[in-house]
Amino acid sequence: MIDKTRRTLLAAGAAGAVASALPARAGQGAGRAPGGFVFPPPETVSLAIEGSQDRFPVRRIHCVGRNYLAHVRELDNNEAEPPFFFQKQRDMIVQTGGRMRYPALTEDFQFETELVVALGSGGFDIAPERAHEHVFGYAVGFDMTRRDRQSDMKAMEKPWEIGKSFEDSAPCGPITPIARTGFLTKGRIRLEVNGRTRQDSDLDHMIWGVRAILAELSKQVELAAGDLIYTGTPEGVGPVERGDRMVANVDGLRPLEIEVV
Ligand code: MN
Repeated sequence: MIDKTRRTLLAAGAAGAVASALPARAGQGAGRAPGGFVFPPPETVSLAIEGSQDRFPVRRIHCVGRNYLAHVRELDNNEAEPPFFFQKQRDMIVQTGGRMRYPALTEDFQFETELVVALGSGGFDIAPERAHEHVFGYAVGFDMTRRDRQSDMKAMEKPWEIGKSFEDSAPCGPITPIARTGFLTKGRIRLEVNGRTRQDSDLDHMIWGVRAILAELSKQVELAAGDLIYTGTPEGVGPVERGDRMVANVDGLRPLEIEVV
């Protein structure tokens, strides 16, 4: 199959009209990327796995909004409304030990420390009592947020994307397999910035636990191996600045260490 754009280009190229206007590589078969691609395909994004040389290839990033009551209250949101979902892109991940670039378009760049669930399988309409069968393991993540832009969009009743989905907005630590942790329903979750504790809570305060999250999310999209789910932040969210050093821990998991640059 040749799509309309390529067909148009090929037709024009055959007439000799645009050959000189195209970048040299685009018009020449020999200069194309390996595999028949017009340019190199995106790199596979993956995470380290604790206790293994293998890596976990990332497919999608789902995030849960408003999943801890104390956080719902600190941002003055309606506590009667259930949690909900939004997405980030896999190339927004920063690996532990890495540098997170302070983004454009904000003066209020905030952390949200979250348990990340990594899926080894998926499907639609996952029953809560079978959710554990789909969990590959867990990691610690940051759902980084342009809080000022998120607030603007909330006020305008528009989608959150500018506040949530941007370069380096999804740092994530190594994955610890569920065989090592068991199915997590509790455990301390905390963040230190420059050695000072900023968030300190417990996973058992989640409104939707991991079973409910998988059940609810799989009603609206098909989950699959490689999906990451950032399960929402406890209270204490706040801003970071360039030069800050962030260290987040969930009991039993490898820490996530990030520098803001
Ligand atoms: Mn969040």
